[in-house]
Amino acid sequence: MENSTLAIVVPCYNEAEVLPQTNKQLCALLDEMIGKRLVGDSSYVMYVDDGSRDRTWEIIAEYAAASSHVRGLKLAGNVGHQNALMAGLDTARQDADVTISIDADLQDDIRAIPEMVKKYNEGCDIVYGVRSKRTTDSFFKRTTAQMFYKFMTNMGVKSVYNHADFRLMSLRAVNALCQYEERNLFLRGLVPLLGYKTDSVYYDRLERQAGESKYPLSKMLSFAIDGITSFSVKPLRLIFDLGALFLLISLGILVYVIVALCQGRGVQGWASLMLSIWFVGGCMLICLSVIAAYIGRIYTEEKHRPRYNIEKYQK
Ligand code: UDP
Ligand code: MG
Repeated sequence: MENSTLAIVVPCYNEAEVLPQTNKQLCALLDEMIGKRLVGDSSYVMYVDDGSRDRTWEIIAEYAAASSHVRGLKLAGNVGHQNALMAGLDTARQDADVTISIDADLQDDIRAIPEMVKKYNEGCDIVYGVRSKRTTDSFFKRTTAQMFYKFMTNMGVKSVYNHADFRLMSLRAVNALCQYEERNLFLRGLVPLLGYKTDSVYYDRLERQAGESKYPLSKMLSFAIDGITSFSVKPLRLIFDLGALFLLISLGILVYVIVALCQGRGVQGWASLMLSIWFVGGCMLICLSVIAAYIGRIYTEEKHRPRYNIEKYQK
């Protein structure tokens, strides 16, 4: 298996600042691995330009022209991290035997890559890169991410703790993944569903080399909601639980009212009435929004729109 063609897939969105660093390090690593016969000579790094508005594509095109080990895939517009990654994997399976996906900012330690390949050579189809600590991330990023993982687990979504999108996948794993047709992609929830032999390698999360995070809180939130709604129907169950609770409470109130009436006490003030109207109204709105979230997803899935459009593929 030592001649497997490895494709390192790197989604890039406005990463002009960090790309020179990234390319230097990834190419050096690839050369080293080819030299050690860990992977075949036809291995390559594929940068997927996710509709960047800065010089990202010019830089990628330059690297692709200069080296046979670098390729660039230019998407016609910004489709988001997950879809861009999917575009890269889908394209790489034309000629790669094994793929590794990694972010452009080099926050994931590239020294884990040879270890992943070793596990692949030992027969693993999927190898997760797992962060053993994330002290270099800001306190905010760390705690919100931690809450996200906890919440996802509680909502019944199977995912690997502290694993993002740094992973190795064999050709047949990628082929299997490409058969999942959903548009609200949440890869780290999908991959564990594939069921092939998996393993993990551990690394320390590093500082972003340059540029800044493209995942502000708003994007993280919608990512989390995507993750939950596309994998779990638990929120629908929660509506039922909430409804049952309310019914119980109203029963309690009914008993209270009857007792109060029998004791001859007058009608209570309107404050309690107003309060409950608002309270129930608020809860109904929340419940409605949960249903709306699902309907929204059904709506986008039902259209079967393409996930991405390729503008150019430079080898
Ligand atoms: N990315 C992308 N499209 C987007 C947003 C991000 O391809 O719309 C890429 C980005 O270039 C990077 C990766 O996804 O390679 C992860 O993004 P980032 O490092 O900003 O996220 P963070 O690590 O802060 O969660
Ligand atoms: Mg990052």
